Amino acid sequence: MATGRATVLVEPNKLETWDVPVVDPEPGGALVRIVVGGVCGSDVHITTGEAGIMPFPIILGHEGIGRVEKLGGIETDYAGVPVKPGDLVYWSPIAACHRCYTCNVLNETPCDNSRFFEHAEKPNWGSYADYAWLPNGLAFFKLPDGADPLAVAALGCALPTVLRGFDRCGPVKMGEAVVVQGAGPVGLSAILVAAQAGARDVIVIDGVDQRLEVARSLGATATISLKDSPEERKRKIYDITGPGGPSLVVEAAGVLPAFPEGVDLTGPHGRYVILGLWGAIGTQPISPRDMTTKNLTIAGATFPRPKHYYEAMHLAARLQDEVPLASLVTHRFSIEDAGRALDAVHKGEVIKAVIDPEHAAA
Ligand SMILES: [Zn+2]
Ligand SMILES: [Zn+2]
Repeated sequence: MATGRATVLVEPNKLETWDVPVVDPEPGGALVRIVVGGVCGSDVHITTGEAGIMPFPIILGHEGIGRVEKLGGIETDYAGVPVKPGDLVYWSPIAACHRCYTCNVLNETPCDNSRFFEHAEKPNWGSYADYAWLPNGLAFFKLPDGADPLAVAALGCALPTVLRGFDRCGPVKMGEAVVVQGAGPVGLSAILVAAQAGARDVIVIDGVDQRLEVARSLGATATISLKDSPEERKRKIYDITGPGGPSLVVEAAGVLPAFPEGVDLTGPHGRYVILGLWGAIGTQPISPRDMTTKNLTIAGATFPRPKHYYEAMHLAARLQDEVPLASLVTHRFSIEDAGRALDAVHKGEVIKAVIDPEHAAA
């Protein structure tokens, strides 16, 4: 039987490379040969166990682009576009059953009956692997002709997450002042969308100069260093926006102290959307009265829907020649070196890292 390699998280902080069977797709599904598997900040929290208990052992990776190897009796992708073996596809990593309360009554994600991860001994869609077996109901989309897989992979699940967030808190409005906390992939995606939407100010806060530089290349109009004190940061931001302050603040910092600062930074009648705290379990003090007196809207968002992956893919493909998206992928690692990839992401040494099955192990 044919096998492919996969990075298996056997238990928290224990990674192994396994040879796993390559299984034919089920009806409605697809077997895909991975071109790149994105390494996401969430994967670091999953690996350390900070993100909670998983059905170990699991194959890591929820972001992927690959070439269709075999299709399970279907001729179109999940948007009705004809698809055939050899085509590049991008997918939303959670299958929907269309037979549960969340799918049908709430019309939301994630579905009550599907899993983010599958046991490593079962057919599996983890993307740190040679192959991904996409089950029926897991939406995949054919990349538009000419799309650069790296440009789409660069913002991984981050761009879909940001599009989901703006669905929840309302879209970026032309001419508004936006602050983005954090210039990792989620923050960079928010900057990209805010700039494209015509925001007047797109101000980003981060502690790493290289990331602030990249933020500018995606449309940030001003950068603020975390080396400044919180008071200094607020003063600089309000100097730029004027006394009305930012009308939209995006949390993409991934650390808890960003939350009270974001509530404080958001101007009257503004919106604050929390995107980066999925793996940051804990509490922070805020003054709830601020929400009343400033008339704030605070929204959280997670688990983008298939349409957000579809929109993200098309946005990246459309912008790939005017914005240096593919160059955001600064590091490639082999399947065997997934541990090093996670380390590099954890230490903030990369803008975006990917697992490339064809990359030679170090
Ligand atoms: Zn991700
Ligand atoms: Zn469901």
